[in-house]
Amino acid sequence: MSEPEGPPPPVVEPGGIVEIADGVWVIPDRRVPLVPNVGIVLGDDRALVVDVGMGPENGRRVLDAARETAGTRALVVTTTHFHPEHAFGLQAFRGEARSVYNRAQRDELRAKGEAYVGMFRTFGPNVAAALEGVELVDPDDVYDGDSTEIDLGGRTAQLLTRGLAHTLGDQVVYLPEERVLFTGDLVESRIFPIYPWFPPDDADVDGSRWIEVLAWLESLDPTQVVPGHGEIGDVALIRAAREYHERLREETFARADAGEDADAAVAAIEPRIRERYPDWEQPEWIAFGIRCFHAERTAAR
Ligand SMILES: [Zn+2]
Repeated sequence: MSEPEGPPPPVVEPGGIVEIADGVWVIPDRRVPLVPNVGIVLGDDRALVVDVGMGPENGRRVLDAARETAGTRALVVTTTHFHPEHAFGLQAFRGEARSVYNRAQRDELRAKGEAYVGMFRTFGPNVAAALEGVELVDPDDVYDGDSTEIDLGGRTAQLLTRGLAHTLGDQVVYLPEERVLFTGDLVESRIFPIYPWFPPDDADVDGSRWIEVLAWLESLDPTQVVPGHGEIGDVALIRAAREYHERLREETFARADAGEDADAAVAAIEPRIRERYPDWEQPEWIAFGIRCFHAERTAAR
């Protein structure tokens, strides 16, 4: 038996790029772990890149794809949250694109970025190789409050944030005219929601706030939803995610109220959830979600 090697190389493959609306392009993740869906949105004058892949080489690949797609347009880049596969390729864009996102995301990157590099390096040689030479860089601009708009020339992109859910600094990108929504890891397609519940190192994930954020995203009524990972869908993706969190919360709260500890709640609930979502991947995240809701409930009493 060989040593386990962990995930396969987390490589963004721009050859698979697809145009999902006029001038709205996505580099699909091909359901490869630790590869995000990447967006490239063209206006008349500028192009916006949404998420950059993990590490300098992936960042360069995304930058090259953006240049090829955008032609002579100036580039602007944003990231949906600080997690490595979404944001840790940003160094490739220095001097090539203006970068902008919300202040909470920048603060979270500063607070946790190096620790996440260390944690991800333990995931296996392919992930460690992708992080070789990584430098964590601040965005050129941050915004305060819950939104900003980027005028791309004949097209506006909204950067929207509602605070703590999957991370402290989650941000979505919405194109109101085309009703295309890039969600980052607030929504996935056929992948169990990722609860980065790693107390005491990182406990900044909140399932109840996440449910509220998802209800708000549903209210935007997007016709196309580009999730953080997995296939592009429509508003049903958001609804399915919200219903999952609500189910997990209801079952976990009931068991916490009955005096069960977190281990007992996981043992009872997790198998039933797996059964209910047979085609969803990465079931290891179910237990993290249960533990997060259990802590929320027991801390509240
Ligand atoms: Zn994430």
